[in-house]
Amino acid sequence: MIEYLLPRGDLQRLLDALRREYNRVIGPRVRDGAIVFDEIEKVSQMPVGIREEQAPGRYRLHDSGDGRSFGWANGPQALKPLTFAPRDVVWRATRNDQGEMRFTETLPETQTAAVIGVRGCDLSAMHLQDQHFGYREYPDHYYNRRRRALFLVAVDCANPAATCFCHSTGDGPTASSGFDISLTEIDAGFLARAKSQRGQELLDSLALTAPDAAHVEEARRQGEAAVAAQQRALPSRNLKQDLFARLDHARWKAVGERCLSCGNCTSVCPTCFCHSEGDAADISGQQVEHFRQWDSCFTDGHSYIHGWVVRGATHLRYRQWLVHKLGSWHDQYGRSGCVGCGRCIAWCPVGIDLTEEVHALLTEKQDAQS
Ligand code: SF4
Ligand code: SF4
Repeated sequence: MIEYLLPRGDLQRLLDALRREYNRVIGPRVRDGAIVFDEIEKVSQMPVGIREEQAPGRYRLHDSGDGRSFGWANGPQALKPLTFAPRDVVWRATRNDQGEMRFTETLPETQTAAVIGVRGCDLSAMHLQDQHFGYREYPDHYYNRRRRALFLVAVDCANPAATCFCHSTGDGPTASSGFDISLTEIDAGFLARAKSQRGQELLDSLALTAPDAAHVEEARRQGEAAVAAQQRALPSRNLKQDLFARLDHARWKAVGERCLSCGNCTSVCPTCFCHSEGDAADISGQQVEHFRQWDSCFTDGHSYIHGWVVRGATHLRYRQWLVHKLGSWHDQYGRSGCVGCGRCIAWCPVGIDLTEEVHALLTEKQDAQS
């Protein structure tokens, strides 16, 4: 890939070029004390010079004073809400005065959108969701329409959070595929490269020059330091056999006593795709909507079958989540369902850490739970 230097002062030129080509530009902004993806027009709306501190059950922003635009690691949102919407009406029906029902299609009107600031872990998660929702082949039309509308500008992570472990899952901290353009932020600005034809055309339109050897070396060292900074890890092998052999491990009960079954972990997880469906009629009874919305393996309804909640106890829900995500996911999608973003650790209100739970399950003596 050809590399270019985008000087720091030219980041606005990149945003302007994206705004000319796409209906919306979505990038990082600070809202309610967290970095989220939202529409942006100007660099000044981005979290410049802001970093975040993350730990189990903790997320705080602070000024870094370094003037970097992408010095933060990740916020609670990944790309998931942009493609797999939290709630979609999948059909609508109206009854007329003669009692006849008319059904209407509810496919989303999508506008093209360029997203800037996407991390390697979230690109991997999107690839997994592409597989699940059948992007391009046998597609889920709601997902597919939104997915097709995206142009992705990735940014390599220079400062992973203490909760990140994407290196151990093979998904970061450098973005390697699934983007149109990728950026590595260095002191002088950004090293930019294109992975798609439309990404190359956009970079060509900026008439950038090549970086010098010192810039390339700075980026290389920064990437190595980001790997070395990761404090957590998951075993990189397929854990299906290990976890299935420990379904009666006492650790499940222990974590079940801490877990609130709140579902925060599944909401922030960029790969979780479970949803439920329901109907909502208006008060006149003349119109009804059938919707789907995000669900979680931590809810009662998720395992409700024929009048019985199969996983009534919290520890069974946590076990379902972990054993599916890290075990049987391999059978469905050829890899684990965890991309190491660490969100479920930071946003768990009681600070449950899946890397710690896996370590305990694999190393602690297996006393059968009562
Ligand atoms: S399981 Fe946790 S660390 Fe893994 S992808 Fe989901 S939110 Fe990220
Ligand atoms: S593990 Fe944490 S975030 Fe997930 S359901 Fe339990 S308490 Fe909520």
